[in-house]
Amino acid sequence: MSDLVKRLADWDHDRLGRLAAEHDTPLYVLDIDRVQANYERFDAAFPDAHVTYAAKAHTGQAVLSALLESGADIECAAWGELQRAVDAGADPNTLQYTAVNPPDRDLDRAVELAAEYPGLTITGGARDTFDRLEARGYDGRVAIRVNPGIGTGHHEKVATGKDAKFGIPEAYVEEVADDVRERFNLVGIHAHIGSGVLTDDVEEHARAVGKVADIARAVGDGGLEFVDVGGGYGVPYHENEPPLDIEAVADQVREAVGDLDAQLKLEPGRYVVADSELILTEVNTVKEAPESTVVGVDASLATLIRPAMFDSYHPIRNVTAPDREPIPVSVGGPCCTSADVFCTDRPIAEPRREDLLAIGNAGAYGYELASQFHSQPRPAEVAIEGGETRVVRRRETLDDVTRVEQ
Ligand SMILES: *Cc1c(COP(=O)(O)O)cnc(C)c1O
Repeated sequence: MSDLVKRLADWDHDRLGRLAAEHDTPLYVLDIDRVQANYERFDAAFPDAHVTYAAKAHTGQAVLSALLESGADIECAAWGELQRAVDAGADPNTLQYTAVNPPDRDLDRAVELAAEYPGLTITGGARDTFDRLEARGYDGRVAIRVNPGIGTGHHEKVATGKDAKFGIPEAYVEEVADDVRERFNLVGIHAHIGSGVLTDDVEEHARAVGKVADIARAVGDGGLEFVDVGGGYGVPYHENEPPLDIEAVADQVREAVGDLDAQLKLEPGRYVVADSELILTEVNTVKEAPESTVVGVDASLATLIRPAMFDSYHPIRNVTAPDREPIPVSVGGPCCTSADVFCTDRPIAEPRREDLLAIGNAGAYGYELASQFHSQPRPAEVAIEGGETRVVRRRETLDDVTRVEQ
């Protein structure tokens, strides 16, 4: 196994079989050591920068506490994430809250937390977010989220840099910075440019990062603590795609940023968790159709929505019989929508009923986006750490699904 990526073939198949037998399927299996190794590799590639984990990719307690143990700080984009970071043991003084169209409730709670822990930083991406902070009596640490007008990403829905929803347009940044400096302690300039940047987009990404650094210099980087260029670093979802050469990316980012009087900050989410988790799912149906073979499994778009939502490719492997002759199959779940397919006409070692399939790279925006569609209780999550395994999220029951009904 190259340490740059963990592929499905790298997982211990016997162990996966035992976990499925013990905990049932669908089952999320999380490799905690891998989470830490990914963070540590990224951190080592940027020795002079400050690397913060963007919690929304996977907010599980097991992930947050492992990353805190590795020395990571945490970036949160909603009140619930802030609270979960605190619950996992984060020092609130180190937290960064990125407010995107923030509900009142979120601002109230962030301001309350900052009153007790003045090290907390609140990032705003609209002028009125700053007005709403001032109206709450807040005058503490803030960063301005800027929109550099260029962006990259694996799908248009995640290319945030050029989407007007995010950040202050470049043309207004200096004026907003002057205004913000009068009312708050302006400590940083922030941008998050897109998600899923891989080899082909690295240059475009570096260009956008350079633009953010230029904006920071225009605002006066000498008066800032940090310039945060966000996350977006990709992982190879296809089996034959090369991983990101993180050292090379770091060189390009450093070169694009140039001289700065403030510290460079980065916020990877996906990169840290994507390949550290897979989903085990059992084959319940094999159906010959004129065009292809349809394989029905017990995972669905409620378990993993990325293929339906972003057309995302996720690797799939028959872990019961990886050496069987591959046949082209479509794999889908039990939901009554044609969007509930994980792949179409993909060669997979011939799946038979009761085989166990693994769906890879499910650690980022996987469980985090899971739902209870079709009254399906959400799956359990088992973590592997060292030689040990433990359940970190029990399987939901139907009672969990109906608990809030009155
Ligand atoms: C989502 C997000 C990130 C992380 O993005 P990844 O693509 O998962 O690396 C970083 N910063 C902010 C503000 C975000 O919203």
